[in-house]
Amino acid sequence: MNLKLIDYIPSNTNIDVINATKNLYTNSKVSISYQRGDLERFLTISGIVTENNKGYQSQIIYKKASNELKGLCNCPHWKDLPFCHHSLCLLEYYLQQKINEDLIQNFTPEHFFSHLVLNNKWSVHYFVNP
Ligand SMILES: [Zn+2]
Repeated sequence: MNLKLIDYIPSNTNIDVINATKNLYTNSKVSISYQRGDLERFLTISGIVTENNKGYQSQIIYKKASNELKGLCNCPHWKDLPFCHHSLCLLEYYLQQKINEDLIQNFTPEHFFSHLVLNNKWSVHYFVNP
């Protein structure tokens, strides 16, 4: 299964929104209030994403059949866009949880290290120059 955010957002999405999402995921608090389904069919996640001490009520819906991604949010950015960085942050949070679950379920040293190399540039550097 693809667990990268970029695989689920339309290719014409503004790069600023993607960068803002990554930044938000790293620096903010995400609190999931509702989650149902999965990326194989239909996924919906609602929650509160805190940015600069302000909480935004946000939701993301993904439909695999139509490859459709829709966000809802009470922030000022959302109204001009199909989704904002808060709603995408919920998806990124879900993807990161899945990556962690995968790591735990399929734990073998080989899998663990190949995962690190694939997902962390710093690790690649570390293995090349120990
Ligand atoms: Zn928002």
